[in-house]
Amino acid sequence: MPYWKPEIETMDPKDLRQMQSEKLVKLVKYVYDRSPFYKKRFDEFGVKPEDIKSIDDIGKLPFTKKQDLRDTYPNGMFCVKNTDVVRYHASSGTTGKPTVVGYTQNDLDAWAESLARGMTAAGLTQDDIIQVSYGYGLFTGGLGVHYGSEKLGATTLPTSSGNTERQITLMKDLDVTAICCTPSYFSYLIEAAEQMGCSIKNDTKLRVGIFGAEPWSESLRKRIEERSGIKAYDVFGTSELSGPLFIECEMQEGMHIWSDMFLFEILDPETNEPVPDGEVGELVVTTLVKEALPLIRYRVGDLASLDTSVCKCGRTHPRLMRLKGRSDDMVIVRGINVFPGQVEYVLVKFPEVSPHFMIILDRDGEMDSMKVQVELTDMVSDKLDDYYKLKSRIEHELKSILNLYAEVEFVAPGTIPRSEGKAKRVTDNRTF
Ligand code: ADP
Ligand code: ZN
Repeated sequence: MPYWKPEIETMDPKDLRQMQSEKLVKLVKYVYDRSPFYKKRFDEFGVKPEDIKSIDDIGKLPFTKKQDLRDTYPNGMFCVKNTDVVRYHASSGTTGKPTVVGYTQNDLDAWAESLARGMTAAGLTQDDIIQVSYGYGLFTGGLGVHYGSEKLGATTLPTSSGNTERQITLMKDLDVTAICCTPSYFSYLIEAAEQMGCSIKNDTKLRVGIFGAEPWSESLRKRIEERSGIKAYDVFGTSELSGPLFIECEMQEGMHIWSDMFLFEILDPETNEPVPDGEVGELVVTTLVKEALPLIRYRVGDLASLDTSVCKCGRTHPRLMRLKGRSDDMVIVRGINVFPGQVEYVLVKFPEVSPHFMIILDRDGEMDSMKVQVELTDMVSDKLDDYYKLKSRIEHELKSILNLYAEVEFVAPGTIPRSEGKAKRVTDNRTF
């Protein structure tokens, strides 16, 4: 089993914890001395750097969240001089005003290192040709993965997002073996290639996909793998933590998070106490090595679970299990929590529809209504009776997963807007 940094990746968990303790103690002093924001936050919370003697004291530290980055926009939480910042990025602003993040050269190196480890874990080597179809620019996806791929020593093809036909032509002509993009964009690439008379499975050398930046399901993984003949791996990150950072290993059982760089906690959002291993809670992250914008107990806004057992691949670092969705992606319909990922999970089971969908919420008087628009594929028969049967089968399956009736509406293929980055899955027309 190849590793990028075997001595770190397979380190005894006890030694890792000790390393985390030492880094945490240093970090707390670092942010307190360098950032007026952190000094004020610690003082208000009544905690001094000396109070933190090991990782067991983590609960004594105050939380931070996205709102803090917005309140101190653009760089009030930074811990280095502007001249030590070698690059800025900004979040995509899915949930409000974008936030600015910054990096020192060491921060960029650690980010690329995290991805080189993850790419190696996903079976990539310097012999691979990696197409980076995440957007380049302020979004962290493109440049992040780009430097990870270069660190690995692979050949990088920086297509960025968009211009889908050219993406497919280059993939074929340059013998691309791996691609990084959102799972929704890759689903679109498969379709678009077919329309060009190219089968990704038979006519290209693609063998690995690294997909993330948005929630996706296990059933979409199966569908993608079957249709394109590749192995599809999940990747997670957020701009505040650096960008895309953690990738699954070949076991495909969760993304290895690197404990020498990050300290993950999964907390009960009501009590702020840790949940038992394996249970879903709110993801809270402390960055152990970042210099420009270190984060202390940052509430990422995602619901997640961790598996801390040693992985079959031999890596001892915990695995972040597939994310259900960010807490603010969730919509409440007639008092029931609905994640777009649940709808995707159902739709992917039906070969008669494509994985592109749109949830439309309306309000009729006091009552919420939920409609799911889906596109038919050519696998459906043209008998009207079969349409009705399919519609009611999907509605039935949705009901059993969501505990809620949602009407299914079929629309013509290609009608649902395709996204080159993160897909937009909900149109909420309700007025409150
Ligand atoms: P923004 O917060 O503006 O969308 P980011 O690009 O930093 O900007 O998005 C990070 C968020 O994207 C994460 O907090 C998470 O909700 C989502 N995300 C990223 N990767 C994944 C993944 N593999 N699975 C599920 N959600 C993901
Ligand atoms: Zn593993």
